[in-house]
Amino acid sequence: MKKDVDILILGGLIVTMDQDETIHQEGAVVISDGKIIELGSKETIRGEYRGHTEIDATGCVVMPGLINVHTHSPMTIFRGLADDLPLMTWLTEHIFPAEKKITRDIVYKGTLLACAEMILGGTTTFVDMYLFADQVALAAKKAGMRAMVGEVLYDFPSPNHGPPEKGLEFTENLIGEWSKDELISVAVQPHAVYTCSPDLLKKCHKLAQKYETLFIIHLSENDDEVKQVKERYGKTPVEHVESLGLLDSKFIGVHCVRLTQRDIDLLAGSSAKVAHNPESNMKLVSGICPVPKLLQKEIVVGLGTDGCASNNDLDMWGEMDTCAKLHKVATGDPTVLPAKQVVRMATIEGAKLIGMEEKIGSLEPGKVADVIVVDFSKPHLTPLYNVYSHLVYAASASDVKVSIINGKIVMRDRQIITLNIEQVMKDVNEIARSIIRPE
Ligand SMILES: [Zn+2]
Repeated sequence: MKKDVDILILGGLIVTMDQDETIHQEGAVVISDGKIIELGSKETIRGEYRGHTEIDATGCVVMPGLINVHTHSPMTIFRGLADDLPLMTWLTEHIFPAEKKITRDIVYKGTLLACAEMILGGTTTFVDMYLFADQVALAAKKAGMRAMVGEVLYDFPSPNHGPPEKGLEFTENLIGEWSKDELISVAVQPHAVYTCSPDLLKKCHKLAQKYETLFIIHLSENDDEVKQVKERYGKTPVEHVESLGLLDSKFIGVHCVRLTQRDIDLLAGSSAKVAHNPESNMKLVSGICPVPKLLQKEIVVGLGTDGCASNNDLDMWGEMDTCAKLHKVATGDPTVLPAKQVVRMATIEGAKLIGMEEKIGSLEPGKVADVIVVDFSKPHLTPLYNVYSHLVYAASASDVKVSIINGKIVMRDRQIITLNIEQVMKDVNEIARSIIRPE
């Protein structure tokens, strides 16, 4: 008698990303009640289970959904608005003024567009920092995506919550509202050390500790930042956060491009983690995060796209490709960041970064079912010698055929099930016309 389950994925190469890096040739994945029940050979599984939905993955790779550890998803509305500028000019003359026009509705609609793009590209979890984070959470929930959101906090008044103290209150309420949700969680996310006073940073840290959640901050993004922080506090940005007592295993430094050896030692010594965004760092010429050195010190490094205004897409495949190649050029060593390690950064290491490695990041029985099916029956993925090599250097977002999040199919055969994509794009085009006037 066969057992009835929700979803059976049958056939294909199952790349689990588990501790033993298990791969099943002609495998199968059993999904029920939102969880992965079993993995194994197609023949055995087919003999034991009957799926309410059955997905034929012949010629495909089945793997854990990708985890984008840092983005500002509503910034899809600024895609292509201001390019080819230095970070501080870009931020202060273009992005900050444009952001004054941001409303809750814009954030919601911009996030829906981001979710559509991410779902189509096989991203199943994203970590977001932005204004009106409540709307980011609602949009992610609507799209059926797993998200860790956070209201961006800084010393100046916010169009959302007004004065900085209110931002902490807003964050605390948001943590409470989503505390029992299966998909959405909330982190405390001060913008950067140059936009947040030591007092605000300490309050943020206290709040993160109170709710045992993450403290996420842009850190050491470029030379300007390091210079400003040194002038103000006589320390590097990492030394500064360390002196304030902020570094611990729930601290995520985003970027960490300009690091001294002492900075790296401080991060490693405190088990702090790093979100690496190579394309954004390249585009804004911020520099190159010394990822191989961080990995040598066993610092957990995840991969993110950053926001759409500085990338300009949310494509984790492009990010993996860039990441693997950038560090080879930077170090002059083609052996650094081999493909498998980069796939790990986009999956299980990303899960570790956000403290969700028990739940996501690999295909294992008992974990929640965040699974993608990537179609390898394509000229650019033929022949196949090494699956990790193709995933990093040859596959692209458009090869993702099916996306399952929390055991629910959110995209099948390139059709998003949770969103009306035509409407989502129409809404954002309208926003672009009415709010952000082109020159
Ligand atoms: Zn960012």
